[in-house]
Amino acid sequence: MTALLTLAGVSKSYPSGGELSTVLQDIDLSIHRGEFVALLGPSGCGKSTMMNILGCLDRASTGQYRVAGVDVATLDADQLAALRCQTFGFVFQRYHLLATASASDNVAMPAIYAGRKRHERQQRAQQLLTQLGLGERLDYKPAQLSGGQQQRVSIARALMNDAPVILADEPTGALDSQNGRDVLALLKSLHDEGRTIVLITHDLDIANHAERIIRLRDGQVEADSGSVAARQLAEPQHALPTVRQLSLARLWEALHMALVALHANLFRTGLTLLGIIIGVAAVVTMLAIGNGSKADVLERIKAMGTNLLLVRPGAPGVRPSGSIATLTSDDAEALAQLPNVDGVVPTRSASGKTLRLGNQDYRSEIQGVWPSYPQVKDWPLGQGVFFGAQEEAQQAAVIVLGQTVIDSLFPLGVNPIGQYVMVSNIPFEVVGVMARKGANSFGQDQDDVAFIPLSTAQSRLMGQRYVNSITVRIRDINQSALTEQLINDILLARHVKQDFQVRNTASLVETITETQNTLTLLLGSVAAISLLVGGIGVMNIMLVSVTERTREIGLRMATGAPMGSILLQFNVEAVVVCGLGGLIGIGVGLLAVWVLRQSGVSVVYSLLPPLLAFGCAFVTGCVFGYLPARKAAHLDPVTALAAE
Ligand code: ADP
Ligand code: MG
Repeated sequence: MTALLTLAGVSKSYPSGGELSTVLQDIDLSIHRGEFVALLGPSGCGKSTMMNILGCLDRASTGQYRVAGVDVATLDADQLAALRCQTFGFVFQRYHLLATASASDNVAMPAIYAGRKRHERQQRAQQLLTQLGLGERLDYKPAQLSGGQQQRVSIARALMNDAPVILADEPTGALDSQNGRDVLALLKSLHDEGRTIVLITHDLDIANHAERIIRLRDGQVEADSGSVAARQLAEPQHALPTVRQLSLARLWEALHMALVALHANLFRTGLTLLGIIIGVAAVVTMLAIGNGSKADVLERIKAMGTNLLLVRPGAPGVRPSGSIATLTSDDAEALAQLPNVDGVVPTRSASGKTLRLGNQDYRSEIQGVWPSYPQVKDWPLGQGVFFGAQEEAQQAAVIVLGQTVIDSLFPLGVNPIGQYVMVSNIPFEVVGVMARKGANSFGQDQDDVAFIPLSTAQSRLMGQRYVNSITVRIRDINQSALTEQLINDILLARHVKQDFQVRNTASLVETITETQNTLTLLLGSVAAISLLVGGIGVMNIMLVSVTERTREIGLRMATGAPMGSILLQFNVEAVVVCGLGGLIGIGVGLLAVWVLRQSGVSVVYSLLPPLLAFGCAFVTGCVFGYLPARKAAHLDPVTALAAE
């Protein structure tokens, strides 16, 4: 008949100071089902080491250990976890309860890894605690319980999965004698129910409560009182422990545990959240502002008219300047003959010209243009008329003023039409006033201007016959590329060399879009960096959390948590923080965008940036949560349990 637990030639040694120090030496031992065994020995003789091996928390260095006939050396970490879960209940000297969980949650914990449903777990935990006389203390935290009560909670936990074997390492060591006797009586009654009990102690009086005493000394079995024959029940042969697969239920469980853990440390969780919130909100806001300013500028350019082509002097790539004298009004006349051209207006301008009315001076820009100006530029008059072909032909001294000039020169209520304004000592008759146009996309005041016939400007005011630009209005905008090509060809034929450039608003839109995209990208990357910083914060906090909760991890592993569960729990914690932070961040970001819009900043809401930011936060959570989670999952259960 096979025994339940069999050690054959088991040794355990630890590397210490460069050499191996042997703690257990060549131990042969069988423990049968239903036995109550005491492992007795002085402190340091290797009892705890033995219990760790018996409980599959640790592996033997050499020799073979079988649980119900299965050699544990053939099992991987998760199978060992499942074996612990199904076979062993641990009672530790220092109880090892989770400080943040209530008594009943502590008791219920191992059943998570056995795959029991939550209400089932709670029910059984309450039932066990009630049986052990703690029915009134279900919701107490460990710190609110006495040592004896805490040890009873830990015994209830050991019973949670109905483990057939209870391993108790000095369970009375931290208790006074009365509580110690209670715990021993409890173990005795568990034994009477048919459970196998291994009680570890250094105290002969305590060992005497057991049926069989095994004395250890210096890592060897010194004496063994032997099995009580009557107790040798038939051993059921275990199949290999079944490892639970990842499932929705386990994911749900991990989520619940993550929320509990995050709730237990609200302040820290809040700070971590803040990092993510700021990052995500920044991304949302910055992109909204960037896209808003882009839309704004494009809108204003469109308002300028996409059906205009502008011919400027100077070779392509050369910055156009007023002093390049390659374009003439003859060029403009030639262009006016082209098909698909709706109108042409050459412009010769001079800024900083003084206009004088009486003793009132005002400096403004004077533009010499053709009478076609209002039609080509689609700029109606507010008052009076624009000069006509006759005035142009006669080089007449007539002037049309912009609204800003009117505001500056004429007192309120005075009709400017018919008045004379002096420019360079020539009296110009005011024949018209342009409608108000406002500032252009670059913030320039478009109304700060005065128009005179081009011929007048060239011959009487500025001299020389060249023009600064020719504006061409296109009839069919779909043909604009063709027309642009035609203009280029004609001018090239007239000038022989490319000493001019043709620009359309579409290319201007393109340039500005590019610039604006760069700006948005810049804003976006600044925000992305803050998101990254938030992510690093999450990792930092998770690492602290893993370190701080090493003992909890050890305990969860001892009670049967597979590596995957630990990995999942910590990953889910990080993802929950980032997901929650992401959601709040989107909320804050949208709120900020709304406030900005109310205060007149142009912003563009779109679905993409919030989704992008949330996705980033989520991925950050996964990536930065993974490393600490991996660290946690790879902890050795024995070392983790020993951590302070
Ligand atoms: P007991 O529980 O009987 O008091 P232990 O089994 O805890 O004794 O320890 C037995 C010996 O093994 C001690 O000398 C201890 O220093 C050594 N030991 C235990 N764990 C380790 C370890 N992780 N690394 C090195 N030595 C260890
Ligand atoms: Mg010990």
